[in-house]
Amino acid sequence: PAGTTPVLELRDVAVHFGGVKAVDGISLQLESGLIYGIIGPNGSGKSTLIAAVTRLTPLTRGELLLDGRPVHDVAASRLAGLGVARTFQTVRLLPDLTVRANVQIGADARSGDEAQQRRGPAGWLRPRAASPAVAEAVARTRLEGFEDHYPSELSYGTQRRVEIARAIAMGPRLLLLDEPTAGMNQTERAEISALMRSMRTDGLCQLLVEHDVQMMIDTCDYVFAMNSGRLIAQGAPADVVQDPAVQEAYLGR
Ligand code: ADP
Ligand code: MG
Repeated sequence: PAGTTPVLELRDVAVHFGGVKAVDGISLQLESGLIYGIIGPNGSGKSTLIAAVTRLTPLTRGELLLDGRPVHDVAASRLAGLGVARTFQTVRLLPDLTVRANVQIGADARSGDEAQQRRGPAGWLRPRAASPAVAEAVARTRLEGFEDHYPSELSYGTQRRVEIARAIAMGPRLLLLDEPTAGMNQTERAEISALMRSMRTDGLCQLLVEHDVQMMIDTCDYVFAMNSGRLIAQGAPADVVQDPAVQEAYLGR
């Protein structure tokens, strides 16, 4: 709605790697409570854009604003405290920790419990009262019953849900998901899509990088299409996939 401060705003953001203009002048605004998608062919700059937003790669130029506050000079390690959480393109769970302990890592990042973080994984292994944030994240991702399992005992789709639970336990305002359904079957994809839709409560803003056009249409409220580091179209998913520039760049027609 007009007049509200976007959760995330990018102003002319660019990330160049030498001569490679991975992201080349992107401006956009994300509002709370909506699910946004980014589509684009391989190498179009989607993951680099996520890395720029999460401060894992420096900006060549441009500005990032979170809830109206400039964050382009903020350290990546501080972003969790500012309400940004992400999942990665490949599953990154700690194999020696249970589901509960993996999700607890997210809750600890939220509380900024530095003593806990100094203790490291050995500290996380110690039995402790499960925090309310962990129980809530487990419930929201429908992982009840899996709390004492180890990642290797879980299906790939369930491991993905644990990663999302860990991110949710951080209590984010903005959740970034880079190809969360890579390697999943249709049933698992539909589950992740339904999960994301169910998480639109409490003003959570979600940004999904997605290859599967149907998944994107089913899940997102608004979509940005990228090619060669630039936005070539944006709008309602069904309109964006019909856009001639998108058809040519992304669908190869
Ligand atoms: P996508 O996620 O859309 O597939 P990427 O953001 O991974 O695209 O990559 C965009 C472009 O930037 C590609 O040409 C890729 O080779 C290049 N690139 C990405 N990361 C780096 C890096 N760390 N160093 C050099 N080039 C990179
Ligand atoms: Mg990528």
